[in-house]
Amino acid sequence: MKAAALALALILASSCGVIGSLRPGPTIAPLISAAFLSVHLFVGDQGDAQERSRIPELRDAIAAALPNAWSTATAGRGQLSLRTDGDIDMELDGTDGTSALTQHSSGGRVISRKIAVHTVEGPRRLTIAELMATVLHELGHIWCCFGPGTKDGHWTDAPKDFSTVGLMYSPMTCRVSRGSDPICPSVFSERELAEMRLNGP
Ligand SMILES: [Zn+2]
Repeated sequence: MKAAALALALILASSCGVIGSLRPGPTIAPLISAAFLSVHLFVGDQGDAQERSRIPELRDAIAAALPNAWSTATAGRGQLSLRTDGDIDMELDGTDGTSALTQHSSGGRVISRKIAVHTVEGPRRLTIAELMATVLHELGHIWCCFGPGTKDGHWTDAPKDFSTVGLMYSPMTCRVSRGSDPICPSVFSERELAEMRLNGP
């Protein structure tokens, strides 16, 4: 439903650059599972004074929300825990930049993965809602998306209207209403869950 009084604006959440050996597809299946994923979320030491004072709170907020957010995003099929020796390192970087999953391969095998999530994009300091969508998006890149209908890890048929379903577009679109927090995509679509091997109950 659209309320005429509601000032709707579309903003772009973090765009995403995928670095590394993601194309054209994994030569072997990723060894980590979206059904039981562990993440090491930590704070980098970069950024201006304002961001460096903000970022520990962001980290705590994301850490608190991420297990439930992952469960919701995967339609209850995935579990996520935070641990120091997680499956994947995720650094919150307080500088302006493009968030990305970086993978290094050797002999067709992924030997390391790291996600950098930038908390600043251009002139804007990203909100928790945007950062949560970015975190889910970058985690999704571990498995998604390859093959027909994708380019650089993203679906090419981005919807024209805002939807909370479908996390693997670039850039992602959040909906902003004046006076309230942005609403960002929060649930993987069925085709994304299939790429993550989470299709079916
Ligand atoms: Zn991406």
